[in-house]
Amino acid sequence: MLCVLLSRNTLLSFSRTGLRHLERRAQLPRPASADVTRHRAAGAASFVPQLGFHTSRRLRALPAPLVFLVLKPAQKLVAIILGRYIRKWWAALPPNKRQQFREAAWRRRWHLLAGGAVLSAVMAAFLLTHLDESPVTGRTRSVELLFMFTPCCLSQYLEEFKDSILPQKDPRHQVVEQLITHLAQRNQDVTEMSSITWNVHVVDLPVQNAFIMPDGKVFVFTGLLDVVADIHQLTFILGHEMAHSLIGHAAEQASLSHVLDFLSLILLTAVWALCPRDSVAALGQWLQGKLMQFMFERPFSRRLEAEADQVGLQLAAKACADVRAAPVFWQQLELVEELHGEPPLPEWRSSHPSHQNRAKQLDRLVPQALELRANCMCPTLPEADPRAVFSEAMRHLVEEAREQQRAEKEKKAGQAGLITVPLPALQPLRPPHNVM
Ligand SMILES: [Zn+2]
Repeated sequence: MLCVLLSRNTLLSFSRTGLRHLERRAQLPRPASADVTRHRAAGAASFVPQLGFHTSRRLRALPAPLVFLVLKPAQKLVAIILGRYIRKWWAALPPNKRQQFREAAWRRRWHLLAGGAVLSAVMAAFLLTHLDESPVTGRTRSVELLFMFTPCCLSQYLEEFKDSILPQKDPRHQVVEQLITHLAQRNQDVTEMSSITWNVHVVDLPVQNAFIMPDGKVFVFTGLLDVVADIHQLTFILGHEMAHSLIGHAAEQASLSHVLDFLSLILLTAVWALCPRDSVAALGQWLQGKLMQFMFERPFSRRLEAEADQVGLQLAAKACADVRAAPVFWQQLELVEELHGEPPLPEWRSSHPSHQNRAKQLDRLVPQALELRANCMCPTLPEADPRAVFSEAMRHLVEEAREQQRAEKEKKAGQAGLITVPLPALQPLRPPHNVM
């Protein structure tokens, strides 16, 4: 298995970003074998909590292609118009005609049921004939051919970020490019890796996000570089994004979206046909949309994110990153949210797993990833586990906060005491003795 090590140059390239402190903290262990003598390994950077992190917004998924923005509302509009037409047509029918239709429908109920069954069977056959195996994880899935949206979206993004894309000579661009190249080189055993050409764009905007388009166009925002604590976390995040591309998650989401759109159109037509008034139908439409989101789209998205975390961790392990740093990244983001008093979004409402659950899942996968890393003849990791370092730092932080609270309470109590302690009663002043 080809395993290439993170070079020290990569570390030294960090500058003018929030990652500069990593250079000072990184301990570079010696290579583990003669095969890797020309490489300098990046060891674990000790983590000190970065309380200056930006408030973490949930990482955005890949934006929807423009065609969906036009096509989806048009389809909905057609379904609404059709549903309303059916309702008004039914309402305008004389009672005896309605009764005739009801009786005819009842007489042909078996034909109607058979028609529904045939339609369901056609749909099931369509899905089953599009089944394949997900790369790396081997999960069975249904994927349509990936639509050729990339050229339009790439030019759209390049136009949107044209004033903020860093030049290739910028150290931040070079760092990301080197990491992507390292990850790609060390994961050549993944068949799909050779079919993707990675092309890096670093965007100088305070957005805590990164995404990779299905054909390998990488977009990383400097806001993300500011919140990762070390090079190992960044390697894991880039591995996560590469995993989305390698597994073809965009195609999977497009497939699910098309199936749900089709079901939605049928339901939407039914809602607008059956509801007695437009206001009720509008409410029914809203409910139907929310049900689709919370029952299908978001759970599916969370599942893909969890899979990308799992595969990203493996990619990072083979690139000799300290995979123990991966769960710490999500713990940091959780901590930042807490420090900013942001209530966490309940997971069932989110397209991504909660920070806490991501950290827990990665924590469970770390032993397996460490084994994989060891099989790649990576240098031995330092004993200081970033997870333990983070926990210890958190313990100190909590103790300090408690100490500070206690001191403030005592100070307030002291001040209050000065005010409330009764002054000794003063003797009334006697008139001066007559000295005369
Ligand atoms: Zn993701």
